[in-house]
Amino acid sequence: MSVLVLMEDGGPSRQTLTLARKFGEPRSVRIDAILPFAPDALATALAQAADELDASAVFAAGTERGNEVMARLAARMDLPFAANCIAAAPGDPVEVTRLRWGGSLLEEARLHSPRPLITVAPHTVAADDGSVPPEVDLHHPHDRDLTVRVSDHVEPSSAGVSLAAAKVIVSGGRGVGSKEGFAIIEELAALLGAAVGCSRAVTSAGWRPHTDQVGQTGTKVAPEVYIACGISGATQHMAGLKGAKRIVAINSDPQAPLMLNADYTVTGDLKEIVPAISAEIRKRR
Ligand SMILES: Cc1cc2nc3c(=O)[nH]c(=O)nc-3n(C[C@H](O)[C@H](O)[C@H](O)COP(=O)(O)OP(=O)(O)OC[C@H]3O[C@@H](n4cnc5c(N)ncnc54)[C@H](O)[C@@H]3O)c2cc1C
Repeated sequence: MSVLVLMEDGGPSRQTLTLARKFGEPRSVRIDAILPFAPDALATALAQAADELDASAVFAAGTERGNEVMARLAARMDLPFAANCIAAAPGDPVEVTRLRWGGSLLEEARLHSPRPLITVAPHTVAADDGSVPPEVDLHHPHDRDLTVRVSDHVEPSSAGVSLAAAKVIVSGGRGVGSKEGFAIIEELAALLGAAVGCSRAVTSAGWRPHTDQVGQTGTKVAPEVYIACGISGATQHMAGLKGAKRIVAINSDPQAPLMLNADYTVTGDLKEIVPAISAEIRKRR
């Protein structure tokens, strides 16, 4: 029995293969086989390849691209799709364990499907050293499948420290009050050589670009120190902070969830506290 695996260069494809091998002999399709990235074209190619191979299941990594192609494949084939699995046991039904809510919840589910479609959450399965499977020939995509495709890559405007790689992050929430209010956050970040982050309340208000957002639908960060200023600490924000080694929270509400989860807290108005920290750093230099 063969299974089809969508491989992504530089992505966690070996982990995906490890889980896929439980279901049968893998054959592979490459996500960069159709350039520029065009999810409908890949979904069409996968559907054709799955039918030709009579694949019993289709797997991909639970990356943004993997999940996008598989969602389109599921819609096309009218089949259920289990995204971001950390375990899957073949059978009828297939038993899966999925990451939900940015990793704060594990869901046990059963997948009733003649052809299970599964993505594997990155870095959750130990990759075996099995060989890379042979590739399937792809049919040339139709123009209609190229309607949605990557047309350009735009680098983030800030030339500063990248959020994902930053050792220190100074992050602001709704408590900062306005776009202009971020001047004190930027000042402290510059003094510490830190990146600036923010909550979704801030990006929704248009005070900062989405590239600055930390959390479940933003960037997952892993700094040595995360300084949260005027952020309440909603579950979706905390989902992005699991890798942070130390959290400092500045908030006027001592009962805010972020204050209760922080290593160090300062209770008070951030508009006084943040400039005071910057002034103290300047004084000591
Ligand atoms: C599907 C989904 C995905 C989401 N993804 C994300 C995500 O990726 N990232 C994210 O951040 N959110 C996300 N959210 C939104 C999340 O639920 C919260 O609404 C958001 O995080 C709240 O942002 P906040 O903490 O800045 O604002 P608030 O919750 O309004 O908190 C503001 C905080 O500032 C404090 N404060 C106010 N004034 C001051 C002051 N002068 N000095 C000090 N403290 C002050 C208040 O006490 C309060 O604690 C998501 C929501 C959904 C439904």
